[in-house]
Amino acid sequence: MTLQEKIDKAIRNVPNFPKEGIMFKDITPVLEDAVLSSEIVKEFVSKVEKGEVDAIAGIESRGFLFGFPIAMALGIPFILIRKTGKLPYKTVSYKYDLEYGSAEIEMHEDTVTKGMNVLVHDDLLATGGTAIAASELIKMQGGNIAGYSFLVDLAFLEGAEKLKKYSTKITSLVSY
Ligand code: AMP
Repeated sequence: MTLQEKIDKAIRNVPNFPKEGIMFKDITPVLEDAVLSSEIVKEFVSKVEKGEVDAIAGIESRGFLFGFPIAMALGIPFILIRKTGKLPYKTVSYKYDLEYGSAEIEMHEDTVTKGMNVLVHDDLLATGGTAIAASELIKMQGGNIAGYSFLVDLAFLEGAEKLKKYSTKITSLVSY
């Protein structure tokens, strides 16, 4: 079985969560499989060209699960992008529109430095709104978007198209 097939088999589809009409891709069974999880980290790491990425920024909260092990394996910093109000030190924030209402994300102000090449990581790419907000936050601090990595791409939503203006280096291990 290919890695892609193994991930596809492990992901649990939960219909109508968190609301009617959404097919939620539950990655918790993937996390219960340590062998598969290690293979996933190795695969992500192999896609990063040496010297091209200075830090990994993981998006709360499922972006932390693989983001941090990838950063450790590469020997580079891991940056937390969180919902407003969670980080203890001085933060920079970015507000963005959702289908209904708005959301705000933050990171510590001393994490991204000018000219730093940051790879944005999350578990899943849907419309791209969250990854774009993360990219804007990184750019506000003078960072460059070195690329994106996702475990899952809901390709039918065409989120990747919107990310291309920040970076065309978009890795996803499975796509639907
Ligand atoms: P978006 O901003 O639309 O690209 O949504 C991406 C964020 O929402 C990620 O942090 C995902 O974890 C979460 N998400 C969106 N849709 C789903 C889905 N169908 N299954 C699991 N997570 C999702």
